[in-house]
Amino acid sequence: MTCTLTRFAPSPNGLLHLGHVFAAHVVWNRANQLGAGVLLRIEDTDFTRCRPEFDAAIIEDLDWLGFSWTGEVVRQSERKPLYDRAAEELKRMGLLYPCLCTRKDIEASWAGTPEFGPEGMRYRGTCKGKSLDMNQPLAWRLDMQAALQRMGPLAVQTVEHGTIDFRPLAEATGDVVLLRKDIGSSYHLSATIDDAEQNITHVIRGEDMRDATAVHRVLQSLLGLPVPIYHFHPLLTESDGRKLAKRDGADGVRMLRAQGRSAAEIRALATAHWSLA
Ligand code: GLU
Repeated sequence: MTCTLTRFAPSPNGLLHLGHVFAAHVVWNRANQLGAGVLLRIEDTDFTRCRPEFDAAIIEDLDWLGFSWTGEVVRQSERKPLYDRAAEELKRMGLLYPCLCTRKDIEASWAGTPEFGPEGMRYRGTCKGKSLDMNQPLAWRLDMQAALQRMGPLAVQTVEHGTIDFRPLAEATGDVVLLRKDIGSSYHLSATIDDAEQNITHVIRGEDMRDATAVHRVLQSLLGLPVPIYHFHPLLTESDGRKLAKRDGADGVRMLRAQGRSAAEIRALATAHWSLA
């Protein structure tokens, strides 16, 4: 039985490009080193952006590229009760509060001099303590200060930098949305719950997810969940340093396949500039 587990967790809001192939390569490469199984989790809670045809194409491309996963594919859209249960628990603890603010409201609350944290413009707590009409779509935010009062340092074991305290990053992040007004459970809540529920021991994700990990670490502490080991890998970027985006067709796996490139060639293209430790 495999007891070391990692996962690959794409969001089906576009087709795979070389950045994803590189990320998948890192995940499977590390899994091989660890003797770990890889689960495939489709992060499709955001129904405003995710589409079934991308879901199908991602799975087909990964398989064609030679990445093989353990067990059935798991879809977050089918696991809503798990996330709702966790959100209820946080509400019972008095750590979530409803919020009506739009991006514009948040901007206005800073009167022209916004402060930015790892998640973008910081939320100033405008709705905290207010009694709102609950018969309308509302977001629910984590009261970060109250949450952090319940815990000490937030140690995270990373492959690159040893053990790091993520508490300062969580403080800087502030009151993040855990339940979105439109889709319910946010990425932060769903991913944290799933990593625990799926017994993931090693989370291997892009460097762009390092800040988000601080929120996940707070949730692990609040909900008594195990803390996996984290590996943050670099991202493939454009020559001007921009992160590859799904819309960039030239680097798309479908496009490269249509040009007659083999799976080995596409994997080599994605990893050409990186030597993996
Ligand atoms: N679904 C996220 C993405 O496609 C990855 C999330 C994760 O590694 O937790 O960027």
